[in-house]
Amino acid sequence: MTVRHAQQPGQVKAPTAARLLIVGPQGSGKGTQGVRIAEEFGIPVVSTGDVFRSNIAEGTPLGKQVKEIVDGGDLVPDELTSEIVRDRLSQDDAAHGFLLDGYPRNTTQVGHLEDFLAGRGDALDAVIELAVPREESIERLKLRAAEQGRTDDSEAAIARRLDIYERETAPILAAYREQGIVDTVDGVGSLDDITTRIIAALEARGLVRRAAA
Ligand code: AMP
Repeated sequence: MTVRHAQQPGQVKAPTAARLLIVGPQGSGKGTQGVRIAEEFGIPVVSTGDVFRSNIAEGTPLGKQVKEIVDGGDLVPDELTSEIVRDRLSQDDAAHGFLLDGYPRNTTQVGHLEDFLAGRGDALDAVIELAVPREESIERLKLRAAEQGRTDDSEAAIARRLDIYERETAPILAAYREQGIVDTVDGVGSLDDITTRIIAALEARGLVRRAAA
């Protein structure tokens, strides 16, 4: 027997999860904001940059395969990157929500992600574009290079990554804009102010924070 569990008025449950993507040039603070937003919404962060960096640091076969590419500021091949993301999104904690940081990064990866999500009846709920002027990004990246010594924060690699962002990553926003799911947030200001702006934009879409759920 098939039982239909019709929802009664007043019993409609607010969504407690969100499928999010944060996009912004390197140095826009998307990593930091991504962690804060994921915490607010109770969802895991899936950062391809972090996956590659930790594999490089641990000297795994994947790390050895991608080290030169990442250090030079180039993109790791799409199929390999998408496979890693599909694998991560298939884990239980990402079943109902996640925040993607650094993926997809070009239109090929957008297609891979859409196919994967559509296969399980999902789609992204919102794309946060963190808008930061190029000069400000460069300043922040130089500061980070001095503080953290990331090997891909050399001046040449920084320029390369910002060029790739403008040429390959910024255009993915056009596709998501057509779907009406992009929120552009001013990424200049204090960390707290920017987090507040992002949360306000997501709540305006009806996405519910963990504390409020
Ligand atoms: P990020 O921390 O997001 O700036 O990523 C650091 C580096 O990891 C990038 O410069 C690329 O070499 C590599 N990477 C991260 N995400 C991707 C992706 N979606 N596609 C290809 N390469 C990536």
